[in-house]
Amino acid sequence: PVPQVAIVGRPNVGKSSLFNWLAGRRLAIVDDFEGVTRDRMTTLINNEDAFFELTDTGGLGIEDPDDLTADVRRQIDLAIESADVILLVVDVLTGPMPLDELVVERLRGIERPVILVANKADQPHQDTLAEEFHRLGRGRLVTVSTTQNRNRSDLMELILDRL
Ligand code: GDP
Ligand code: MG
Repeated sequence: PVPQVAIVGRPNVGKSSLFNWLAGRRLAIVDDFEGVTRDRMTTLINNEDAFFELTDTGGLGIEDPDDLTADVRRQIDLAIESADVILLVVDVLTGPMPLDELVVERLRGIERPVILVANKADQPHQDTLAEEFHRLGRGRLVTVSTTQNRNRSDLMELILDRL
């Protein structure tokens, strides 16, 4: 069986950007607007140093902006169903939000390794902003920027360590 890695997180944190970045190809739709309907995206990462299937669980079915918790619930159900490692994406520019806490809440009791991917740290000085996320209390923290291509190999190493 192919090891499974699932990307979860509230809308607009950069899940689809992370998916494309790790895939090395633009497969998922990156959207400036929240609540756009998209399909589940899965891709096989297969190269000399990595072999796993990556799934962007965000934006499944109809994303009702008034019921984002339903989207989060769906993501977590999918991740629990399939994932060996869960990438929980958060946004350093906004800091921790109630919906991030809801994701953590729903992951409680799930004994799957979680990596807390603090995205949008475009500048090195923004790395310290990520420390706020320790209070979510779940997952090893890694700070990245998908748009500025920061710390991709650190993240990859954490994923591979946990598979
Ligand atoms: P999703 O809803 O979680 O899948 O988020 P998307 O991947 O669609 O991205 C949402 C928005 O965040 C888009 O406007 C992206 O361009 C932006 N974004 C994604 N990654 C980064 C990043 O590393 N830095 C910055 N500044 N913006 C980002
Ligand atoms: Mg998306």
